[in-house]
Amino acid sequence: MNGNRSSSRRKAIARIGKTRPLSVGIDYRREPLQEIFGALVFDQAQMAARLPKDVFQRLQNTIRDGYPLDISVADVVANAMKEWAVEMGATHYTHWFQPMTGTTAEKHDSFVWPAGDGRVICEFSGKSLIKGESDASSFPSGGIRSTFEARGYTAWDPRSPAFIQESHNGRTLCVPTAFCSYTGECLDRKTPLLRSLEALSKHAQRILKLFGSASTHVSANLGAEQEYFLVDRQLFLQRPDLVNTGRTLFGARPPKGQELEDHYYGSIRGRVLAFMMDVEKRLYRLGIPAKTRHNEVAPAQFELAQVFEECNIATDHNMLTMETLRGTARDHGMVCLLHEKPFKGLNGSGKHCNWSMSDSFGNNLLDPGETPRENAQFLVFLSAVIRAVHRHAGMLRLGTTGPGNDHRLGGFEAPPAIFSIYLGAQLAEVVESIVSGSQGANRTGDTMRIGVSTLPPLPRDATDRNRTSPVAFTGNKFEFRAVGASQSTAPMVFVLNTAVAAALDHFANELEADIAAGRSLNEAVQNLLQKEFSKHMPVIFNGDNYAESWPLEAARRGLPNFPDSVSAIEHFTDLDTVDVLQRYGVLSNREVHSRAHILLEGYAATINIDGRMALDMGRTILLPAVFSWQRDLAATVSGLENALGQGAAEGQKALLQKVCREADSFMQALDSLEQALEASGTHKGDAQATARACRDLIVPAMAAAREHADALEMLLDDHLWPVPKYRELLWLY
Ligand code: ADP
Ligand code: MG
Repeated sequence: MNGNRSSSRRKAIARIGKTRPLSVGIDYRREPLQEIFGALVFDQAQMAARLPKDVFQRLQNTIRDGYPLDISVADVVANAMKEWAVEMGATHYTHWFQPMTGTTAEKHDSFVWPAGDGRVICEFSGKSLIKGESDASSFPSGGIRSTFEARGYTAWDPRSPAFIQESHNGRTLCVPTAFCSYTGECLDRKTPLLRSLEALSKHAQRILKLFGSASTHVSANLGAEQEYFLVDRQLFLQRPDLVNTGRTLFGARPPKGQELEDHYYGSIRGRVLAFMMDVEKRLYRLGIPAKTRHNEVAPAQFELAQVFEECNIATDHNMLTMETLRGTARDHGMVCLLHEKPFKGLNGSGKHCNWSMSDSFGNNLLDPGETPRENAQFLVFLSAVIRAVHRHAGMLRLGTTGPGNDHRLGGFEAPPAIFSIYLGAQLAEVVESIVSGSQGANRTGDTMRIGVSTLPPLPRDATDRNRTSPVAFTGNKFEFRAVGASQSTAPMVFVLNTAVAAALDHFANELEADIAAGRSLNEAVQNLLQKEFSKHMPVIFNGDNYAESWPLEAARRGLPNFPDSVSAIEHFTDLDTVDVLQRYGVLSNREVHSRAHILLEGYAATINIDGRMALDMGRTILLPAVFSWQRDLAATVSGLENALGQGAAEGQKALLQKVCREADSFMQALDSLEQALEASGTHKGDAQATARACRDLIVPAMAAAREHADALEMLLDDHLWPVPKYRELLWLY
């Protein structure tokens, strides 16, 4: 009965009025932040305290330089880890991994081992630490692993520390792992990230060596800014679209959206602040340096940024942050939506990825420095990123694909799907002056002499920043803004690391050859930068990326534009992408093809779920409400005409006619959606054709149906509307 639905909607609203912030008794005077930070992590300090010196040293070598760990060391580490975990109250352990489903996965085993006398002891061997077996048959593998060879294995990643997961009735030791098939092909998001970090370090080191640095390795750093929405759980549960797809498939534009811009950086409401503080404490205990919290642009939208860390750890920490946001919201009677576009007509949620490289002394290689020499080295690394983005834009686009993000990219709130770089006026001028050095005078008449001139001071000010560019240089790091809120940062970072490694490899070859031929380092660098900056000028764009003219201008510049995920994924298997991933040992040809397949299948599955949900909700929840209103209106019309005669209900009749027209169109649109769902299911076994059909048939059919439903929402008696409206979801919490 629609009456019941709409009355539970009103009851939920009444209850929300009485909801108070949830206090969980956080008091940092009692538990100082420095003491609880990392309390749930088997970190360096724990290892140093619990491991014999030589074992600790060998483990450090593995962590730092990637040396394989022998089983005798692993046994000692496993035992120390288990003792710590048991003291912490853990009974089980799990290999924690990141399969291609986009979330994290875990299979728990207890430490329990029968002692033979009816009692048990707690056991955790080096073998169980290093390698776990799991039935991989239900994880996407893109055909790499046939079901008769269903086993996959998880392999310990000693570079990311083990941690304790707390849940309501117990604690579990989580060991971060990579996930591979038995034939060694990777089936997860961590493995290519680790491989790409190695490639980046190797070639960045070659450049540093030329500059006379004593650095031993280079790491990449990532600081993620996570956006999310919060909605009250009671309202959420009444929206089957939110429950099943993470976004609203219907919903008329609310009278008040983000027009007044009164939410951005507004004061944080008590219930939300209580939630944020609870999230932060949980993150601190996991050793995750949560830093910034604020209201975002859309109502009910927020952001949490963490201090940057090494990429692999930052990626694991972002996965844990997303889990923590979801879990904590539940405890606070709310739901955290990480979907890229939960609400039509409002800003979606992204995840800005701030990326930089640093040497083994911790110096940021994207910091311009102060001396001509530091400036020269900085310009080489800067130009490597510019070359990487220009040459491998298609591959970088893969770091942002996903059906959810398609609703956001290019939506005049998020950068377009075209990769370009914003450098800022000062740096753009420097680049131009280097380029013009080879072509005569530039605008200002000076040219930049590498090794002699110093860079002008570059502002590191947030205010003059172009917010429309997908890639912006922000003083000492690059900010990649096209990644979606729900996505893992691993794909963006591994394609970026690979592309930059390729650029640095090329630069190192050129510089080494030039120097061998008798040129000085400064001359060689000047020569290289002139060539590189001229060649890659087209990817630099300091204008407005939201302007309608930009896609045309970008096309003239030859920049690829893959507006949706399917067209982007289809280019995963392009020769130059496969070649670079293979050359730097990040993904094999087979792994690339299997990934493309998995991504296409994932896209189709998501669009199908969205489409079926829209059809179900349209027919069984929204239409019945429309029919009730038609009955009510018809009764009103005939009642009035009976009482007052013909012509007494013209206005009501006109309204009824309007409702009937919209209702007919809605029913037809739902029939078309049903046909689209059927038609897109006719390409069995052909992932590409299926994904294309989903994009070309289901997506537009859903949009058409939604238009009519949203129009009806604006016409119907509010008491009959069966699901919470935008104005309630967005403002009541
Ligand atoms: P905003 O972009 O909102 O103005 P900031 O520029 O202060 O905010 O920082 C945003 C993110 O960038 C944070 O996660 C921060 O830790 C990260 N960040 C700062 N410096 C670096 C760096 N050198 N490398 C990678 N990330 C960094
Ligand atoms: Mg930012």
